[in-house]
Amino acid sequence: MPSSQAVISVVGSLNVDLVTRTARVPVAGETLTSESFDIGFGGKGANQAVACARLSRTESQATSSKESDVQVRMVGAVGDDEFHSDFLKSLEKDGLNTEKVQVLPGQKTGVAVIIVESESGQNRILVSPGANYQVPTEDLVEEDSTVALFQLELPMDVVLHNIKIAREKGVDTILNPAPAVELPNEVYQGLGHLIVNETEACILSGIKDVSNVNDWDKVASVFISRGVKSVIITLGGDGVVYQTNERSAQKQPAKVIPALKVKVVDTTAAGDTFVGAYSVAVARWKHSATGEKFDLDTAIAFANRAASMTVQRKGAQASIPWADEVPES
Ligand code: ATP
Repeated sequence: MPSSQAVISVVGSLNVDLVTRTARVPVAGETLTSESFDIGFGGKGANQAVACARLSRTESQATSSKESDVQVRMVGAVGDDEFHSDFLKSLEKDGLNTEKVQVLPGQKTGVAVIIVESESGQNRILVSPGANYQVPTEDLVEEDSTVALFQLELPMDVVLHNIKIAREKGVDTILNPAPAVELPNEVYQGLGHLIVNETEACILSGIKDVSNVNDWDKVASVFISRGVKSVIITLGGDGVVYQTNERSAQKQPAKVIPALKVKVVDTTAAGDTFVGAYSVAVARWKHSATGEKFDLDTAIAFANRAASMTVQRKGAQASIPWADEVPES
């Protein structure tokens, strides 16, 4: 009997964010006292997994036995250090399944040391991948997954192997190639959905100087010609451009969907929220198996509304909304 839940397997990074704020960054050899210090849980994988979980349930559902229609499974690794159990507890509080997070003996959990300079508003970030880089290259996407979501903060071999495995198992694949590095063409062949921001789109397509929708159409066409089924390019407050292999085959141009007009406070985690919301829409559609075509316009509109909530709040994971906080239209 098919499960009552769609399953999103998020194969990605888990990082502890150590955030220190200072009026100015110390010069070499200098010691300063910081204004504040906070510990947060992040990493692109964990952030997008949290976004998937929150956007498919309410906060009260996450902590009660009432199941959401979407199970979100975090797949990755942490070290057996002082951070890992609080990290996993925090994910579980958001309704995530953490059974597939490996706790690696003798390893450190990934850490991002973030120095925020309040005078200039600039951040300096140093990432120690720790356990993220010790995730073994083996089959991590289970057969019962509806969707597998990837980023590029795990070893490339792990990502490439598991995109291939997911495709072989008939699991729909979503890749958010951040941070952008050149990828072999086999990644794109048969990839379900590629979600990129402006910078990633230009680096990966090799097209620079993009100024209008016709240019974005060309960028999207590069990915379509490499074998991607749906390309979604997020342009911050300027909206989203998307193209599909079907539209392209019918000579239809890329389509623009505007972003919501909102008062922006902090855009941190906007991209992760967008990816999470879009993945929830894909998982629900695939799981429902009605035979209807995937409605990209509706999925992107939902992702835009979700991300518009994130940009109106301060913080990273803290700013990602729950399902009932996203406006209906
Ligand atoms: P980040 O790295 O800041 O998390 P990103 O660069 O990956 O984000 P963006 O294209 O900047 O991705 O933003 C992702 C989505 O967030 C947009 O598609 C949009 O839905 C929403 N968004 C971002 N900026 C704005 C804005 N100024 N107004 C409304 N929505 C926005």
